[in-house]
Amino acid sequence: MKMKIIFLCLFILSAGSGLVSGNESKQGWISLFDGTLNDWKAGENKASFTVDDGVIVANGQRSHLFYVGPVENAIFTDFELKVDVMTKSGSNGGIYFHTEFQQNNWPDKGFEVQVNNTYNRDPKKTGSLYMMSNVTKKTAGDDVWFTEHIIVKGKRVIIKIDDKKVVDWTEDDPPRPPSRFSKRVLSSGTFALQGHDPGSTVYYKNIRVRPLPVIDFPLVDYHVHLKGGLTLEEALRMSKKRGVKFGIAQNCGLGFNVTDDNGLKDYLEKLKGKSVYVAMQAEGREWLGLFSPEWIAKFDYVFSDAMTFTDDSGRRTRLWIKEEVNIGDKQQFMDMLVRKTVGILNNEPIDIYVNPTFLPAEIADEYDDLWTRQRMMKVIEAAVRNDVAIEINARYKIPSAEFIKLAKKAGAKFALGTNNGGKDLGNLEYCRRMIRQYRLKESDFFKPRPPGKRAIDRWKSRR
Ligand SMILES: [Zn+2]
Repeated sequence: MKMKIIFLCLFILSAGSGLVSGNESKQGWISLFDGTLNDWKAGENKASFTVDDGVIVANGQRSHLFYVGPVENAIFTDFELKVDVMTKSGSNGGIYFHTEFQQNNWPDKGFEVQVNNTYNRDPKKTGSLYMMSNVTKKTAGDDVWFTEHIIVKGKRVIIKIDDKKVVDWTEDDPPRPPSRFSKRVLSSGTFALQGHDPGSTVYYKNIRVRPLPVIDFPLVDYHVHLKGGLTLEEALRMSKKRGVKFGIAQNCGLGFNVTDDNGLKDYLEKLKGKSVYVAMQAEGREWLGLFSPEWIAKFDYVFSDAMTFTDDSGRRTRLWIKEEVNIGDKQQFMDMLVRKTVGILNNEPIDIYVNPTFLPAEIADEYDDLWTRQRMMKVIEAAVRNDVAIEINARYKIPSAEFIKLAKKAGAKFALGTNNGGKDLGNLEYCRRMIRQYRLKESDFFKPRPPGKRAIDRWKSRR
């Protein structure tokens, strides 16, 4: 009996590792397919994918099979991927990257590398980076195995078919995805295989990846809230899975759950000993009058935004609430917003300025025009002068790339943050893109300071 089990184990091991040759394994290639679909998950029409003798067969109603296994936690940024593919006559398929699990339809997120040798309804042939760089010449034939080799590094994508380069594409800066495909932007994500239609039969095997180093320092999401049903346990699990440390913040201020030192104390108690940073989000401009510096100083850091203030006509303004926003003259409104922001940076003891440059929905479309270079520089200079880090916000994708470029040049420090409304914690994709785009280094980032050296301590000593 024991022998049988050992034999079975050896068999499974050799079947699994046999997919990556000894040489490839030395070069860092890892197999994503062990002969079963255990690490893969299909959305609609699961029956369209079957496994036959170490080969994934795609045939049936439209379906996509996503890699959800342990390699890199199924989040790939820069990588090389090789897949051996074979088609039957008239078949269509595809290999997606930087995508995410989606139950129905064609995947929205990421890019498709085409599989099509003789599916003549679509002129985009095997090796096309679908819609971004189309190949119209035939690059492979039916009924023979060929290898699709996809290399993604930074903003460049290279696709080779049987070692012959057919696509060499570089993403625009900033990216300009086709209007119908707004999520075709280089980011990070998993892989998916396509089952296109019942008339198509495509075989996939030897799926192997070589992750390439991208960001060589640990990332921290400093702006996570336990709200919208997200529990501490779930947040800890997500943090571990992604290899991203979290800073979990309580909203503190007038009209929020925590309005006094007792509330701060309870929150600190709740997160004590957990492997997260404990943060205070200061809300509204009256927050300093509600809490004592001694209790504020116990938080790893304090952050605030410039989304709540009293406008020049004395009205309480919260920029995300339509009824409270009175824009009037846009230029005057912007000048006021810049003045309020600089005032916060100058006068309030905060470590990070979050949701930076946020504009109310009414004028959000005009962001690039309204945030002139001069306005951006006023905010950047105030942040640098007061040693306040600037958040790169994943949820709103702010500040703009241009702002980040200027801020980096001015020597600002950055901090990454999501500001989630619930369980919508992504993988800091906008942030990663900005890090890559501007080659931000670990030294460009904020680090929580030890007790006695925090913004609140500096503020106390100034008084
Ligand atoms: Zn927040």
